[in-house]
Amino acid sequence: MSGEIPDDNTPTGDGATGPDGSQPVSDAHAIPVPGQRPAPDAGGSRPEVAFPPVLNGLDYLASVVEHLSGQPTARDLKYAVLHLQAGTEVLLKARLQQEHWTLVLQDLGKEIRKKGTARENFAQGEFISCGTAETLERLQDVVGLDLDTRHTAAVTKLGKTRNALQHYGLTQSAHAVEAQAATVLDFLLTFIHEHLLPHLAPAEQGQVETAMEDVRQHLGAITKLIDTRMNGLKETLAPHEDITVLCPDCGMRALVAGEPVSCRFCYRTWPDAASAASDYVYSEMLRRESLDPRDNEERLVHHCPSCDVPTIVDVDRRESTIYLCLGCGDTFDDLIWCKGGCGSLVDPKTCDIDYCSTCTDRLYARF
Ligand SMILES: [Zn+2]
Ligand SMILES: [Zn+2]
Ligand SMILES: [Zn+2]
Repeated sequence: MSGEIPDDNTPTGDGATGPDGSQPVSDAHAIPVPGQRPAPDAGGSRPEVAFPPVLNGLDYLASVVEHLSGQPTARDLKYAVLHLQAGTEVLLKARLQQEHWTLVLQDLGKEIRKKGTARENFAQGEFISCGTAETLERLQDVVGLDLDTRHTAAVTKLGKTRNALQHYGLTQSAHAVEAQAATVLDFLLTFIHEHLLPHLAPAEQGQVETAMEDVRQHLGAITKLIDTRMNGLKETLAPHEDITVLCPDCGMRALVAGEPVSCRFCYRTWPDAASAASDYVYSEMLRRESLDPRDNEERLVHHCPSCDVPTIVDVDRRESTIYLCLGCGDTFDDLIWCKGGCGSLVDPKTCDIDYCSTCTDRLYARF
């Protein structure tokens, strides 16, 4: 279910450092100020653990692909999700930091009013950073990056998965985590290449490229598994082509309408078609970047004229949009609002008075 809104505005609930102390690497937010080097360890006895942000982010990604290789256990999947979220945060914020370190702060005014200078506090990691949604917005609106909504939706979805994981434990199958992770990893590798590498010093560029190559190789293996699995499903899905849509969990086109609504790729099965429709609409809103707080998925899912359950979603098919009922699997080229004003949809092909059955009954009852 999509009721859980990402904790984007909770100061520490947005990424690498969870409120329950779940941070995998303690210095995830302690990003050094450009031009400053971390102070050398006075005793010289402890190993150097300070990573520059891009390498730190890549270190998380290396951990993600390690956890996903072979036959991942539930624990592997959990850390894959947590580390992917942490790596995403660090890498996206590294680009904000390249622009100016104050862009990483949630609230500059508040940081200035704290004891000490904001710059020193930042270097010490003593600051509250902005959430994922805000980071994506700043990258686009302030830095001027052109990010694909498919990718921003994948990052937002990942934040949701991570929050669900922390509150309820892992709710997704290995296949769903792999497919979701592959999309985000692919986006991050391109992001590093296009937006982070050009701003790094040559020495760091070399290190980053080596680390990227390692992640890319592992990602290739994961993507191959996903492709093989999708190819293996071709025959199963072929008879249902017209009623197959993108799965809100794994993002693959493998969700087949009709009770029980289930995804053939990740095996997610919904308890009823109405909750599947609600999850589908939420994920489509993210993908189409039309998420408006005034909208809610319940309001955007409509009653099916055939089975009278809120299970109608609109689906892009080639040049046009059709309406599909996730419950009964009926498709409609065109649906119109019932003239009785009840908010139901009617199929003008089978209904010549443009009133739904409930409103028709009500009208006749008057005579
Ligand atoms: Zn799925
Ligand atoms: Zn129906
Ligand atoms: Zn009606």
